[in-house]
Amino acid sequence: MQVDYDVIIIGAGLAGGCLALALAATDLRIAVVEANAREQRYASPAGDRALALAGGTITLLDNLGIWEAIKPQATPIAHIHVSDQGHFGKTRLSAEREGVPALGYVITARSIEDHIANLLAQSPNITQFCPARIIGISSSTQEASVSLKQADQASVINARLVVGADGGQSSVRKLLEIGQNITDYGQTALVTTVKTTKAHANTAYERFTAAGPLALLPTTNGQSSVVWTRSTEQAAALMAGSEADFMAQLQSCFGYRLGELTLTAPRRAFPLSLIRAKHMQVGRVIIIGNAVHQLHPVAGQGFNLGLRDVIVLAEQLIQQHTAGLDIGENGFLHAYVQKRLKDHNRVIGFTDGLIKLFSNQSNILAIARNTGLTFLDHLPGAKSYLARRAMGLSVDY
Ligand SMILES: Cc1cc2nc3c(=O)[nH]c(=O)nc-3n(C[C@H](O)[C@H](O)[C@H](O)COP(=O)(O)OP(=O)(O)OC[C@H]3O[C@@H](n4cnc5c(N)ncnc54)[C@H](O)[C@@H]3O)c2cc1C
Repeated sequence: MQVDYDVIIIGAGLAGGCLALALAATDLRIAVVEANAREQRYASPAGDRALALAGGTITLLDNLGIWEAIKPQATPIAHIHVSDQGHFGKTRLSAEREGVPALGYVITARSIEDHIANLLAQSPNITQFCPARIIGISSSTQEASVSLKQADQASVINARLVVGADGGQSSVRKLLEIGQNITDYGQTALVTTVKTTKAHANTAYERFTAAGPLALLPTTNGQSSVVWTRSTEQAAALMAGSEADFMAQLQSCFGYRLGELTLTAPRRAFPLSLIRAKHMQVGRVIIIGNAVHQLHPVAGQGFNLGLRDVIVLAEQLIQQHTAGLDIGENGFLHAYVQKRLKDHNRVIGFTDGLIKLFSNQSNILAIARNTGLTFLDHLPGAKSYLARRAMGLSVDY
């Protein structure tokens, strides 16, 4: 049966955009459906969020042909400093001691998305529907169909495979009635950027406090990106209060390692929960990236994990297509899902455990984790493992 496309990708964010790029060099006919026009996405403050990229992620971005072009906009992390407020334990890592050029890189989501959008526009086998929203989806033994709305125009397109990469509020997931397991941490991440009177010297700081972790990641122009996790009530009060109040409390929580902090961007709040879809596949439709898993940013793993969904899927799709087999066939998609479950379980288990360990106010736990941090300072292998994983800079893939 003739179909309009081989693959329809819903969502051209980090996961959907990278998947389209990973398939761009094949002869697959690809449609990409994105709800927001490029100018809207560019202007959105969400694009300012700083992502800490692990070594493995850099390699994957390099394989996609993206990294060299965006590297000048990324800040290398030369040192990592992990501490626990009010307790003695701390651990430090250095790229030089580890014998690597950088422990990871920090870059805004916008820098990556913008470059991907340029490349997608140049790919002859990619048709873009943008701005367009998905309003319906169905799957049969032969094809999957997607109903779209572009301005006031409705249309239907079909393909062998539909991939939902439309983020945490995924319409694909909702239309397919895929349920979610939700753990509400009762926390909110406050995100902004600060200038510091002392140079950050390419150091990333992760400070665990009883109310949640505080990360300062080095970025361009001597600024640091702040991801500050507080209880929902504290975060609401910090957002409602004055900038001066906010900065006074941030300074008191972080201390003066970087001198005085000055706010250089608006404050934004992201409520935090661990959300995981109960399934990844329904017929010829699968979901990837944040449509499947939304993690707490404490371990900075969201994009790192989503990109691995993309790469594994792209590799398997290319193999299946090259062998002349159906890329939406049930057994084939089921095998992909099984392959990804292990990685999801591992990363989600680690992130969840980290939040519980470092959010707990019990003295016994505080002693245990401080002893742990100090102990780690004398155990380079273990220190490297925990500190890198805690910041999303794990190298394992
Ligand atoms: C504060 C914060 C800090 C973070 N820090 C890190 C970090 O350090 N490291 C890390 O790895 N990750 C981090 N993350 C997570 C990372 O940002 C996400 O994992 C990543 O953006 C998910 O990519 P995605 O493509 O799945 O979803 P998104 O980036 O949300 O993209 C979804 C796309 O789908 C489009 N869309 C939505 N609905 C529809 C529809 N109905 N029809 C068509 N299109 C639609 C949207 O416009 C968007 O373009 C952080 C997140 C937050 C909130």
